[in-house]
Amino acid sequence: MNNQNEKDIYDFLVVGAGPAGLSASIIAARKGHSVMILEKGHIAGPKPRGEGMGYFPVVDEILGDNFLPSIGIKSNGGRVWHSPGDEQSLTTFKDYPHYFFEWRQFIDRFVEVANQERVQMKFNCDVTHPIEKDGICVGVKYKTNGKVNEIRGKVILDCSGYDGIIGTQYGIPYELMRCPIVKCLISHANYTLESTPDLNFYFIGNGDLEYSLQFPPAVAYFFPLDGNRAEVGLMLRMAQVPNMKTVKIPDNSEILRAWNEIKLSYPGFSEYFKDADIDYEEVTNLPNAKMAEKFVPHPGVVIIGDSAGFVNPFGSSGLYYSMKMAKNWVNMVSEKLETADLWSTQNIDDYQARFEESEVYQEVKGSYNLIGAFEYKIFNRLRTSEKINKKWDYISNLLEQA
Ligand SMILES: Cc1cc2nc3c(=O)[nH]c(=O)nc-3n(C[C@H](O)[C@H](O)[C@H](O)COP(=O)(O)OP(=O)(O)OC[C@H]3O[C@@H](n4cnc5c(N)ncnc54)[C@H](O)[C@@H]3O)c2cc1C
Repeated sequence: MNNQNEKDIYDFLVVGAGPAGLSASIIAARKGHSVMILEKGHIAGPKPRGEGMGYFPVVDEILGDNFLPSIGIKSNGGRVWHSPGDEQSLTTFKDYPHYFFEWRQFIDRFVEVANQERVQMKFNCDVTHPIEKDGICVGVKYKTNGKVNEIRGKVILDCSGYDGIIGTQYGIPYELMRCPIVKCLISHANYTLESTPDLNFYFIGNGDLEYSLQFPPAVAYFFPLDGNRAEVGLMLRMAQVPNMKTVKIPDNSEILRAWNEIKLSYPGFSEYFKDADIDYEEVTNLPNAKMAEKFVPHPGVVIIGDSAGFVNPFGSSGLYYSMKMAKNWVNMVSEKLETADLWSTQNIDDYQARFEESEVYQEVKGSYNLIGAFEYKIFNRLRTSEKINKKWDYISNLLEQA
């Protein structure tokens, strides 16, 4: 069923060529299904996002044996958690292999495999609306070269990221799910891999930044990369914010203003920036405040990856989870693809229930529960540097479980 032209109905019509959309497409094409991806950028994954991930079998399965180790540097699994003001710290270890790599190399490999599997991809296609027939979403409208086009699919996978374009129109509450994050890549960073081989996280309580007293609780992060480069950034933690009267939600310019001060003077963290060059800097979003409750927001559509808020909120990792979620959903839907009741209520409930039983769902759900309790305690109840530092032993116990 490969190699269709656009008048046909694709088995899988995928919105977004990020890790979720590309994984789903490769898996579906390998099952013999026709697949079309529409991507709004001029290339797949146009904006760099995560550049570190756990190395699990699904990665080899999708990208090829040992591909990830071939492009990455292996981390030692350590995570250093710094209390506000870098007054205290704790190191924990994960016992699975974890690699850092370059986004472009990672994404280019997906594209290479997708091409081998004869997935069709169209770039500069900005998907705007679902198309419905008899209560089922059967396609999408998209803009390309100033023209509006329509395209159809039996299964529409919304893999368009933290503001899922189709999910939005079927009521997924992205405003409650996403958290702003500064993504920044630096070279000539002031560290050595020998002395700083770990992921480092710096907790910043509400009220801790004298230059932005109402700034939401946040975590500044540092991930080492090859050749004295590093990924650094600032994750705003929004889950508790609706219940915190002392927080004012900042706009992007306020976030960048605070970030510039943090780079200059935040204890411990600012050291990395001495003589460093900033290669990339952007405020974007990560959906790690809350996961979507239903992954089929309307018959015909499945939301996958960031569109579903399917990330592990501790450490904000979504790459592995997008790949795994894509595999689970494509497998389930594929079983029913040729049946008339593909989108019956009973089948939709069954897909959802089966996914909720899966190990990966249980893991993500468990992480959201844990981080919810953790952030309530430290960011809402304790809130300030002084109080968080006083309770650091207790917090360390919780972090050991993360
Ligand atoms: C700063 C940052 C750091 C991160 N660090 C890590 C990390 O170290 N490890 C980790 O595992 N995860 C990390 N993540 C999370 C991880 O990158 C995401 O979970 C992952 O990229 C999700 O993949 P996705 O395909 O669902 O979404 P995305 O990667 O966002 O891809 C969505 C795609 O859809 C396209 N698109 C959007 N709208 C439309 C539209 N209307 N029409 C057509 N196409 C559209 C976009 O251009 C994009 O190509 C990080 C995220 C950020 C933002």
